[in-house]
Amino acid sequence: AVDVGMIRFEKGRIYTYIGEVVVSVNPYRAMNIYGRDTIEQYKGRELYERPPHLFAIADAAYKAMKRRNKDTCIVISGESGAGKTEASKYIMQYIAAITNPGQRAEVERVKNMLLKSNCVLEAFGNAKTNRNDNSSRFGKYMDINFDFKGDPIGGHINNYLLEKSRVIFQQEGERSFHSFYQVCVSVYVCVTRQTDATISWYTDQMAVADAMKVIGFTADELQTVYKVLATILHLGNLTFGVDGDTTLIENSKVVAVIGDLLATKEENVEKALLYRTVATGRDVIDKQHTAQEASYGRDALAKAMYERMFCWIVGRINDVIEVKNYDAKVHGKNTVIGVLDIYGFEIFQNNSFEQFCINYCNEKLQQLFIQLVLRQEQEEYQREGIPWKHIDFFNNQIIVDLVELQHKGIFSVLDEACMNVGKVTDKVFLQGLNSKLANHAHYTSRKLSPTDKSLEFDRDFRVRHYAGNVVYSVVDSTHTLMWPEGKLKITEVTKRPLTAATIFKNSMIALVENLACKEPYYVRCIKPNDVKSPLLFEHERCRHQVEYLGLLENVRVRRAGFANRQEYPRFLQRYKMISEFTWPNHDLPSEKEAVKKLLQGCGFEQDVAYGKTKVFIRTPRTLFCLEEQRTEMV
Ligand code: ADP
Ligand code: MG
Repeated sequence: AVDVGMIRFEKGRIYTYIGEVVVSVNPYRAMNIYGRDTIEQYKGRELYERPPHLFAIADAAYKAMKRRNKDTCIVISGESGAGKTEASKYIMQYIAAITNPGQRAEVERVKNMLLKSNCVLEAFGNAKTNRNDNSSRFGKYMDINFDFKGDPIGGHINNYLLEKSRVIFQQEGERSFHSFYQVCVSVYVCVTRQTDATISWYTDQMAVADAMKVIGFTADELQTVYKVLATILHLGNLTFGVDGDTTLIENSKVVAVIGDLLATKEENVEKALLYRTVATGRDVIDKQHTAQEASYGRDALAKAMYERMFCWIVGRINDVIEVKNYDAKVHGKNTVIGVLDIYGFEIFQNNSFEQFCINYCNEKLQQLFIQLVLRQEQEEYQREGIPWKHIDFFNNQIIVDLVELQHKGIFSVLDEACMNVGKVTDKVFLQGLNSKLANHAHYTSRKLSPTDKSLEFDRDFRVRHYAGNVVYSVVDSTHTLMWPEGKLKITEVTKRPLTAATIFKNSMIALVENLACKEPYYVRCIKPNDVKSPLLFEHERCRHQVEYLGLLENVRVRRAGFANRQEYPRFLQRYKMISEFTWPNHDLPSEKEAVKKLLQGCGFEQDVAYGKTKVFIRTPRTLFCLEEQRTEMV
């Protein structure tokens, strides 16, 4: 399968199907396959009528939504740089292109907003990484709502787990979010030396500001955004020292600037950075930070500010794109296509809590894939009365449980550890894991496997994910996570706040529940090499991705079943001209009988099965033969 992939890649055929799943290989070059003419070729067609393409899957999801009133979703997965975000944008462009034939102004407005929102989200949520120059550092799920005519009337964006640590730290060769560079060049454009990079940041900045204005951000709001960005940059310059018992800020001029930007007094900034408020019994007192604590606090503040601003931006976009005053009684059912573009499985040299969350998310999605792909197939065969033999999968539910189970899962142990602010260390957290999970087949640590030198005592634990083994370091886990999220008054410290971990877990559970009640379409993106080359197809790299995306199992299920199925009337309509029994009309008692006669006549009897409402065709070759014969006739 991987060899075939290589040949197709070299020929520029970057899309392939497994049943209704599109497999896509990042071409790393501009392809002339997304234009108006291509859109026209796919519009309203059936999947197999044209060469595999993203547009075909977008059209299938759209048709299901429009013809059958189904909510559908398109789940795009793959590792960083595999082409997920580009795919999601082509899908949105396709949907925008094929809808609103009546050119209704309100619909055009909505489409414009939906497309423009990408540009804004990318500026604030994307960054250059070693794997992708424009890497999305957040997960995104976007609903597009349609009215009874099938035209977009609004949408909603959910964002997941922004990688806010990037605000304060970037790996060698990586950068912070685009927005910081854009705001810097736009402020200093007159004085900086103009390189290609600064010019492109400048034009990007103009495009983003323009998109934000179109979406409805006011000039004041834009200013506020720039001020927050500037504040975060200045916070990064602050350093702390000690003088006897006192912790102090070494560069007080910066404090003045921050005070200005935040429209508050210098001493407020100072106090916020140097003290924390603690509740002791009934009293609330201010306790001084050590220099170390103060710099943790500074970083936490910078990260929190950026994250809240990002969420606020998403919220503002939602305000304008959300469907308001839709009256189903007047307008018919409001249906939805959801598009999910979310981080793929990650294994790095050092894996922290963020990788843990990302990989947990992928376990959840894999679980959904297994359930939906199998469930759909099995249900369809059952419904149609076709005999079906169950295919075994590795079911990753056990790993999902390892992470999320109440009282026993890794998240629970972490929550418990984070409850004791101040007293807990990462070591205690790891001990908690070791005692609760000692017998779990997918969990281990150095204490549990003393001979395993790849794990460090008091630092690492390893999870056997469905996609491979990952060693996570607990260093700083409790520290980064114990900060409770959301608004919290100090007098409420005794109440148990939700931790970032729990919030993420809950958002993943909600996401998967939401996807599970929609008809799913999948795009599986594959990254052909690690050097962004249009020429290189690294065999081993691709094989690994094929494996962990579950594509081999997917192929097995499809092979055991039928490649294609069509309702009798539709099948007859398409192929009746190739048989004397059905052309131009048939005199058989039903369309099912007519299809039987047609297929017998062509010698395809061995390769098909007849269900209650549909004919099932086992191999794609039969379908191609039918298509060929049809082309000869028409
Ligand atoms: P991901 O979202 O999976 O991390 P992206 O969608 O950002 O990856 O793609 C990374 C880069 O790969 C893009 O910036 C672009 O240069 C290239 N790329 C991805 N998909 C395509 C495509 N269909 N055609 C041409 N180039 C592509
Ligand atoms: Mg992306």
